[in-house]
Amino acid sequence: MTLWLAGIGVSRGVAIGPAHRVHPADLDIPEFTLEPDAVEAEVARFEQALAQARGQLTDVSRQIPGNAPDEIAAFIETHLLMMQDSSLADRVPALIREQRLNAEWALKRQQDHLISVFEQMDDDYLRARRDDVRHVAARIQRILLKEERVIAPRGQKGRLRPIIVADDITPADIILMHQQGVAAFVTEHGGPLSHTAILARSLRVPMIVGLHGARRLLADEETLIVDGDAGHALADASQSALAFYRHRQRRDRRYRRMLSQLRDEPAISADGVRVRLLANVELPDDSAEAVSVGAEGIGLYRTEFLYMNRGDMPGEDEQLSAYRRVLQTVAGPVTIRTLDLGADKTAASVRQQAQATNPALGLRAIRFCLKEPDMFRVQLRALLRASVDGDLRIMIPMISNVQELQQTRRLLEQAKSELRSEGHAFNNAVALGAMIEVPAAALAAPQLARHADFFSLGTNDLIQYTLAMDRVDDEISYLYDPLHPAVLRLIQTTIDAGRAAGIPVSLCGEMGSDQRYAALLLGLGLTEFSMHPANIPEIKRLVMQSRVGELRRRVADILAGDDPATYRAQLAELQASH
Ligand code: PEP
Ligand code: MG
Repeated sequence: MTLWLAGIGVSRGVAIGPAHRVHPADLDIPEFTLEPDAVEAEVARFEQALAQARGQLTDVSRQIPGNAPDEIAAFIETHLLMMQDSSLADRVPALIREQRLNAEWALKRQQDHLISVFEQMDDDYLRARRDDVRHVAARIQRILLKEERVIAPRGQKGRLRPIIVADDITPADIILMHQQGVAAFVTEHGGPLSHTAILARSLRVPMIVGLHGARRLLADEETLIVDGDAGHALADASQSALAFYRHRQRRDRRYRRMLSQLRDEPAISADGVRVRLLANVELPDDSAEAVSVGAEGIGLYRTEFLYMNRGDMPGEDEQLSAYRRVLQTVAGPVTIRTLDLGADKTAASVRQQAQATNPALGLRAIRFCLKEPDMFRVQLRALLRASVDGDLRIMIPMISNVQELQQTRRLLEQAKSELRSEGHAFNNAVALGAMIEVPAAALAAPQLARHADFFSLGTNDLIQYTLAMDRVDDEISYLYDPLHPAVLRLIQTTIDAGRAAGIPVSLCGEMGSDQRYAALLLGLGLTEFSMHPANIPEIKRLVMQSRVGELRRRVADILAGDDPATYRAQLAELQASH
């Protein structure tokens, strides 16, 4: 009978292949003492395993996809450095020699010691390094134990590429396994915003996370269907289900070919409404991909990645050159968001972030920047200096009241007068906008609109804060509900307030990249979307097929109705008919 498992789809597409379970967490470590004459051979065995593990990671670092965030490379670099460090490279051989432990046991002892050292550290960043120690040690242990993940070599005739089923997967392993030819990834833990999920999307490999118990429920080699769009995995599927999913794979391939032909078409609906499709980027280099898929500009550049994985803060010139690169690559508007650190995004140079009891509600984003005006000033100055290189819009995250926007404007004016007296050029009329991602900001949007040059709806946080659900906790991810009437009302209030004040309103949360919500958002009056570049062609196609006037009427009717039983069915019907 078909086994149907539900998780969270974090990378789209359909894959069919034999399941291959990996058990990184439960390696069985043998422990025994050596005869004196076996000691040197054991040291040599450890050193060989260490060299092989280093070789694997060096290989991985060469294969990182061009569109992957910088932090991925930094993450792998950290693991390589750990392998070279004397705490592993010298200490484990010393334990083998001094106590005559077998290599696996010596490595395990040293791993436990290092973890306990890291655990005692005050600094959260350093404390988090214990996971790196675990990953690095597990990689060497697998080699020592000959438990290497033997995965079907690429292109082996007559054999389908395997689907990896794991507890969790490190970003480095995702690259390594992808290189070996893997059809999809399924993990029991992890969330859609993890580095691993980001990489799977960059590599365009279907992936489902949060599929609890998958390794227990699935058997090696059984044929698995992974539906990364729906977040479902099916085992022991019927012939008709297999035929259905094979058909979907063929259709997806044809569809992607067709979409690529829309690249240079403007996004105009069937009834003539012009819609602007912008891209979300994490790194300056992502902007080239955005342009290549036909993005008309950047709707969200997340600058916090400039601050992550380093011990210091990026200076004014470094920031200026990063912002310039984006502005010079993209012809349309470039919306650069000021630093949004806090909650799940931390930087070593910013300590108070991680110590808060409830960081998502703490000193995050603009709150932190206003508390550290000297640091914020550096970013504002860099942004202003970059403003002469293109159509820059400065966007402020996590605004919850008018004062935050006014204070930011004052700091911006101060930075302008400094630059003026130093003789630097800048665009005096540079736009300053607010992200609407706190329910209070959405409800107060009519007042905020008097102080902002534009709005951008950050639905990832807006949904998190409205529904009181931590966006990175897979235990309660079922509560993530963009269709909740409260969420839709806040979106509607924001769009209406923007229109009444004559300022543009965009949406840059994940909801805007999701084809399931395109008709609804157009019906709510949204005319500017910002999303992961890969989704632009598909949303463009939906826009071109839409009759926006009709969608607006239908959405208004649905939202005005007060029957919760039919409300979702009507929204589903709206999307299906679209
Ligand atoms: C959002 O909250 O919707 C958003 C786009 O910002 P981030 O995901 O970076 O918090
Ligand atoms: Mg946000």
